[in-house]
Amino acid sequence: MQDTFGRPITYLRVSVTDRCDFRCFYCMSENMTFLPREDLLSIEELDQVCSTFINRGVRKIRLTGGEPLVRRGIMELIARLARHKDTGLLDEITLTTNGSQLSKHAHVIKRLGIDRINVSLDTLDADKFAEITRRGRLEQVLHGLEAAKDAKLKVKINTVALKAFNEGELSDMLKWCGANGFDQTLIETMPLGDIGGDRVDQYLPLSDVKKRLAQDWTLSPSSLNTGGPSAYMDVAETGQKIGFITPLSNHFCDSCNRMRLTCTGTLYMCLGQDSSVDMRKALRDDPSHGLLNAAIDKALTLKPKGHEFVIEPGHGGPALKRHMSVTGG
Ligand code: SAM
Ligand code: SF4
Repeated sequence: MQDTFGRPITYLRVSVTDRCDFRCFYCMSENMTFLPREDLLSIEELDQVCSTFINRGVRKIRLTGGEPLVRRGIMELIARLARHKDTGLLDEITLTTNGSQLSKHAHVIKRLGIDRINVSLDTLDADKFAEITRRGRLEQVLHGLEAAKDAKLKVKINTVALKAFNEGELSDMLKWCGANGFDQTLIETMPLGDIGGDRVDQYLPLSDVKKRLAQDWTLSPSSLNTGGPSAYMDVAETGQKIGFITPLSNHFCDSCNRMRLTCTGTLYMCLGQDSSVDMRKALRDDPSHGLLNAAIDKALTLKPKGHEFVIEPGHGGPALKRHMSVTGG
């Protein structure tokens, strides 16, 4: 599959639920309204849509959310998708999680065929962690990470860089990641969804963070290129990698290889644009999957050249109404 700009589409990110057991302040408002359960694709339908993409050439699937490990039936979905790894059509199933349920599930997901996970962790300070997630406990996530290591899952830590919140501990976090054998990716806040506040206060350009980290660490450009938005550097002292996702200070759209499916079957072609295709209707109207394939063809023609995020004084509100938990980051 290729879009109209010649970019190969090989990666599907699937938000399996918009629900979450945390309420991170940059992601959701405290009183989030979630989608009605009856609007969700069933596990079987999620499998059918993903499998159609895999048959069209998608080689990597990332399960995300909301919190994917709170979706009922998630293990069944992973087990179903893993059959495409056995046939060689799919290279990888990965997962992005807040880690709250990992101590229970790390070994199971590894056994089902997941080798790598991203765990979101923005601070190693228990009080700040409670503040940022509004209802999470740091200890629970640290236990989950121990379970992940024990299960031999490869872990990458995702950290949103937040002005005057965690900017002072990013160097320590890099050290901690190195000591635990975790790669890390730093992310700039993106203006998605109403969070009941202004993001100008949170936005920290990663160009500044990189300069500061370079005072403590020997960073050199890594040969790793995932085709994704993250530019990786090798950290000589720890042997791990650090990635920088800079949607606001540096566009990453030229090499974009992905599409995003929501839990209600809406397919978004870009995290930062509203154009979408309704896969649920296509699936339900035509069990032979003809309409589903036609919907994918249409999506390929609609994928925009790039996003249009801005965060600056006077533009601190959401660029798009939908939250990150809908499209899964
Ligand atoms: N709940 C899971 C988790 O937190 O890893 C998966 C979904 S979460 C939406 C995926 C990633 O998006 C997390 O790493 C989170 O930090 C990031 N994220 C959420 N809202 C964001 C925003 N407005 N800007 C940048 N990153 C955001
Ligand atoms: Fe939940 Fe992840 Fe959003 Fe935090 S970032 S509220 S853990 S979906």
